[in-house]
Amino acid sequence: MAKYRIALIEGDGTGPEVIGCARKVLEAAELDAELVPIEAGYWAFQKFGKQVTDSAWEIIGESNCVLKGPTTTPMGGGESQMKSVAVTLRQRLDLYANVRPCKSRPGVSVPTKFTNLDFVIVRENTEGLYKGIEYKMSDDEFVSLRVFTRKGCERISRFGFELARRQKRKKVTLITKANILQLTDGFFTNIFNKVAEDYPDLEHEDIYVDRANMYMITNPIYFDTIVTSNLFGDILSDAAAGLIGGLGIAPGANMGDNFAMFEAVHGSAPKYTGQKKVNPTAMILSSVMMLRYLGEDALAEKVEKAVDSVLLEGATNKKVVTYDLGGTATNDKMTDEIIKRLE
Ligand code: NAD
Repeated sequence: MAKYRIALIEGDGTGPEVIGCARKVLEAAELDAELVPIEAGYWAFQKFGKQVTDSAWEIIGESNCVLKGPTTTPMGGGESQMKSVAVTLRQRLDLYANVRPCKSRPGVSVPTKFTNLDFVIVRENTEGLYKGIEYKMSDDEFVSLRVFTRKGCERISRFGFELARRQKRKKVTLITKANILQLTDGFFTNIFNKVAEDYPDLEHEDIYVDRANMYMITNPIYFDTIVTSNLFGDILSDAAAGLIGGLGIAPGANMGDNFAMFEAVHGSAPKYTGQKKVNPTAMILSSVMMLRYLGEDALAEKVEKAVDSVLLEGATNKKVVTYDLGGTATNDKMTDEIIKRLE
């Protein structure tokens, strides 16, 4: 029997391609795991009427964690459609912290003078505007509710401080709009400041999201650990991905107290489906985060080094990296290059 059982969501659009690449790397690295594909995705909704089927929940319940490829969520047009697969899983599994590192990678050209970034966004993952409480008041008026609870604000604040301490970081910045969203974000700020009292070794501050957004462009080295609510974290983390070379290389983890799910920041990039051109790095680096979660630090190190080595070579050899990094490689070719460099 394998040491780990990992529920595998292949995803929609280009999801199966990047998950296939991550799977090949994990197998080449000889992770002792059984990867079990499960029925989850827009495709599952179309086929079975559920975006995560009962059998998928059952397999998740017997697994150490989930490795998730990006999934498609059809856009609503004033009517509610399928709820996002990611949001469904995060809420039901209570994966309340979405951890999205923003770390510069060697050899990757970036649209900014900041080439040595290393900060992390801790996004609240189960509440806020993503609670999904929306209703129609009339044909001309629609309402979305933004939900903040004491439990939600407390645990995400504490998660941010604990992560900062563990990663030997110095500062935790809460990002809100508490001047306008006074009840919800004001409440969050008060709780964050109270939690901060337990971490006198770390600096802390709270700033507004509009200013934070400007810093993201003009002075991203300002940030170290960011704690923020669901929607702000979603928006800021795609901007952060842009700073380091794009969505193709930005990984992520959804963490709960007893379970976790690993997925790239990017979506299913449907327009590229079947072209084998999207970058597998974000998905492979999400697997590296999974390896660390499982305690497989040596394997994680090995895979991360191999990825960085290919990215570095990609600066001068366009044949080893994908289009988004200025290269010509397919995602399979880039994956093979990574595998070649696993010592
Ligand atoms: P997207 O992230 O899928 O793609 C936006 C653009 O970013 C792409 O067109 C492409 O140019 C680039 N890109 C994304 N991934 C890349 C990669 N691996 N390599 C190179 N370039 C890459 O965002 P979207 O187009 O807004 O959304 C498409 C679908 O994905 C939607 O249905 C959306 O709901 C869904 N989505 C899912 C998740 C998730 O599964 N967690 C996250 C975001 C979006």
